[in-house]
Formats: sequence, structure tokens, C-alpha cells
Amino acid sequence: MLARVVTEQYCSVHQLLFVSSLQEWLAFSPAQIAQTFGDAMPVVEAACPRCLAMTQHALHRQFPALYAPSSRSC
Ligand SMILES: [Zn+2]
Repeated sequence: MLARVVTEQYCSVHQLLFVSSLQEWLAFSPAQIAQTFGDAMPVVEAACPRCLAMTQHALHRQFPALYAPSSRSC
């Protein structure tokens, strides 16, 4: 069996690393990642929850009609 190499997801915009063993986004600078996991740790650029919130916010602003409440709650 090959050694299991986990490619972690990293948001360089917010400097958040998704730690798959914890299933959580933690604040990590690139230097901290190198210190903690070693330079060789593979990371891929990913959208963190903050990115998604920002995207959603931008969409709300650009297309308010899509998100406007169409009816009052039942
Ligand atoms: Zn982000």
C-alpha cells in the first residue's frame, strides 16, 4: 500500500486551512503550515466558508431579485 497522502484545502485569501482530521477550518499562515506539517505538505487552493459567504453576499447585491423574499412565511 502506498502511504496515504492527504491533500489539504487551503484558502490563501483568508489563510484558513481545512484540517480533514478535525473537519474544521483553522487559521494558518503559509509559514505556520510549513512549520507544523512540513514544506512538503500538499495543499490545494479552496474556497473556505468565508469565501462562500462573500460570494453569496456579492450575488445578493448583484441579483437582489433572486434573493428577495417572494412571499411571507406561511
Ligand atoms: Zn476564504
